[in-house]
Amino acid sequence: MDSDSIDSADFSKLLLGPGPSNVPQRILKAISNNCISHLDPDFFDILDEISKNLKNLFKTKNETTFAISGTGSAGMEAAFANIIEKDDKALIFNSGLFGDRMADVASRYGGRVIEVKKEWGKNFKFQEMKEAIDREKDLKVVAIVHAETSTGSFQPIEELGEYLKNSDIIFIVDSVTSFTGINLEVDNWSIDICYSGTQKCLNVPPGLSPITFSEKALNKIKKRKEKVQSWYLDINLLKDYHEQSRVYHHTAPVNMLYGFNEGLKICLEEGLEERFSRHQKVSKYFDSIIKSTDFGFFVDKESDSLPMLKSLVLPKSISDDLRLEILKNDRIEIGGGLGHTKGLIWRVGFMGCNAEIKNVDIFFEVLKSYV
Ligand code: PLP
Repeated sequence: MDSDSIDSADFSKLLLGPGPSNVPQRILKAISNNCISHLDPDFFDILDEISKNLKNLFKTKNETTFAISGTGSAGMEAAFANIIEKDDKALIFNSGLFGDRMADVASRYGGRVIEVKKEWGKNFKFQEMKEAIDREKDLKVVAIVHAETSTGSFQPIEELGEYLKNSDIIFIVDSVTSFTGINLEVDNWSIDICYSGTQKCLNVPPGLSPITFSEKALNKIKKRKEKVQSWYLDINLLKDYHEQSRVYHHTAPVNMLYGFNEGLKICLEEGLEERFSRHQKVSKYFDSIIKSTDFGFFVDKESDSLPMLKSLVLPKSISDDLRLEILKNDRIEIGGGLGHTKGLIWRVGFMGCNAEIKNVDIFFEVLKSYV
């Protein structure tokens, strides 16, 4: 076993839900290193390394690339709090619970939100997104969730970025579940603000939100008429700490950042392409077995579904309560449905180091012992 993978001796519970995923020993060890000051020059070296590693993984040259203190939702808030000014028109392509959250957050910061909704489990096609954008005058922001964790569906964003590239519209992408599990190219796809979380494919405990801002986004923020409403998430202030001047803003979560950097290093050592194909391989293997069971796929088309998070429609013979029984007896976590899918679907995650064929086998062996 290599040191980054999870062996049954290494975990108290196998986390096959929508996150958090299991945390490798190497990351836990990094988190337990001695705490030093967030203003110690040695710590600034670590921040520099984090920024460099994160740029590589986001595939961006954006200078403003760092981790927000707070979970994925803090990244979402940071994106909208900084970019939205009162009455800015924001178009949200909403295909699930996290699309709903985006719309809510954007409106709380004063945005005039227009939602284009998609039935849960289905994905948008570029042509319909293009038409929705063309219908609106004076759009300031377009936002979408790349990997909708509530449904397990993948949303195509590449062409969307290309279409928005030469406009003044700011393109925001939520990559909380997709980051380091499927391809994401911030610069090539002209994404202006991209945020993620740590507890999914990165296998770092929850608590930070990696984020990156393009020059185009920063220019819009510079021209704001009013201050950013959130002091804690104001990018103008955060930049001063995370970039050259290193001015104190808030006490950075030092040990979490140690763990985060270790998680980034693990991804870079494996290589993104290898990591993506490992997730694909596990997903295909899982799907091939599911086809021989009474479970259905919540996302019909394989190409629309996420490799790191499989959503399954429960057969009548299986009750959602079985998840808790499995958690209690077998120490394996499986995710349930959210919103109107509660009790109807399961969400089974193979994220980061958990994307291993042996974990698929464990899942089906345990399931077989109950049905
Ligand atoms: N966006 C997506 C797509 C998510 O899956 C999640 C969490 O699962 C979030 C945002 C919010 O992240 P957090 O729960 O870490 O605040």
